[in-house]
Amino acid sequence: MKQYDVVVIGTGLAGLEVARSLAVLGKKVRLVDAKASLADRVHTTGIFVRRTLEDFKFPKDCLGPVVRDVSLYAPNGSRFSLSSAQDEFRVGRMKKIYQTWLNQCRTTGVEVSLNTRFETLSSSGSSSYVRLRSNGQQEKIKTRFTIAADGAQSHVAPALGLSENKKWIVGFEEVYEASAGPPRSEPRFHCLIDPVLAPGYIAWLVDDGEETHLGVGGNPKQFEPKKALAEFKSWVHRHLDFETGRRIEQRGGRIPVGGLLPQIYNHHGMLVGDAAGAVSPLTAGGLDPCLRLSRSAAILLNEYLATGQFSALDTYHGSRLRKRFFKRLLMRRVLSSIRSRKMVNLFWPMLNNRAGRAFAHQIFFGRGSFPDLLSSEKTSLVDWDVSVQPT
Ligand SMILES: Cc1cc2nc3c(=O)[nH]c(=O)nc-3n(C[C@H](O)[C@H](O)[C@H](O)COP(=O)(O)OP(=O)(O)OC[C@H]3O[C@@H](n4cnc5c(N)ncnc54)[C@H](O)[C@@H]3O)c2cc1C
Repeated sequence: MKQYDVVVIGTGLAGLEVARSLAVLGKKVRLVDAKASLADRVHTTGIFVRRTLEDFKFPKDCLGPVVRDVSLYAPNGSRFSLSSAQDEFRVGRMKKIYQTWLNQCRTTGVEVSLNTRFETLSSSGSSSYVRLRSNGQQEKIKTRFTIAADGAQSHVAPALGLSENKKWIVGFEEVYEASAGPPRSEPRFHCLIDPVLAPGYIAWLVDDGEETHLGVGGNPKQFEPKKALAEFKSWVHRHLDFETGRRIEQRGGRIPVGGLLPQIYNHHGMLVGDAAGAVSPLTAGGLDPCLRLSRSAAILLNEYLATGQFSALDTYHGSRLRKRFFKRLLMRRVLSSIRSRKMVNLFWPMLNNRAGRAFAHQIFFGRGSFPDLLSSEKTSLVDWDVSVQPT
């Protein structure tokens, strides 16, 4: 039976980052995903915020042009815009990012198994036995520790006896090539606040000049994403005079918005990324949290495995970190309580004043996001080798 220090289930950004970092720290890692290719079923828009762009290295050609402008709209088309002097957002070319991160995993010694599904886990003493299935064949492996990076509806979390996500919104979007013809204005992030098309969240159009993403998100009990997206497209046509190019992809999935889960580690395993609920409950941004949490998880876990001191994981305390999400959870409640378009149209002038704009500026351009668990000195131990390219 094959043996590993750590088995990581899931090759989203969280799984790739934690596996790569552990391998850099000298651990024997197996990384597993049910997908046959990481280009399959990408489910994220891929908007990276300034804080991530400042704190993490990205390989060449994996990010779109800088976006510094945001426009916010009421259902009746009233709008106001915000501009930043800094490079606020860039849309990731996700297939390239996943592929490059995967190559980085391989070059640092991670054993990668795609087309391989996690089935069950049992623990005894200080070891666990993980059953995987690939092409109808079952494989049993032995590991010291298991990491659940298998997304919002994790199967590994309950197998480890850890917390599970219970609250989500769903997002659905279409990706378009840039339209032919003269270039449009500067790259821009358009957000519509419409409780019918996007109950409890927003409808978005991100256009960075090379790609356009048009999507809706919201409480799954209150809308039909496909129908809402069709209506949003006609809203865009009416109010923004916007031409898209050829449609190249559809993406969608669940986004956990209940905040970081209370129990995210024990003696046998830990949760990272969406599996840990590491998503901003207000903006539903999960890419920065999943990178930040995964990197810290790897460093803390390495310490635990090296010393045998379980207290090395104390910093990775969901219930304690969760308190930092209090304000965002409250704002999520407020956003979810807005049920009528009339109300948004009516209160719009109150948002479109100095205080309202300052608030929106803080939400879109603030450096809030996810707390850092460790100092940058510690996290730099697992910095990127940017010379690795997608193949
Ligand atoms: C429509 C949409 C748009 C979004 N846009 C943004 C955005 O612009 N910016 C942002 O910051 N956040 C965004 N998010 C949130 C962000 O995408 C997620 O928080 C982030 O991608 C989570 O990464 P992850 O690695 O935790 O999980 P995932 O990317 O979901 O990866 C989980 C992996 O586990 C694998 N897996 C699952 N079950 C098994 C199993 N049993 N065996 C083996 N493998 C398994 C899956 O195949 C998958 O590859 C968006 C989410 C959605 C749904």
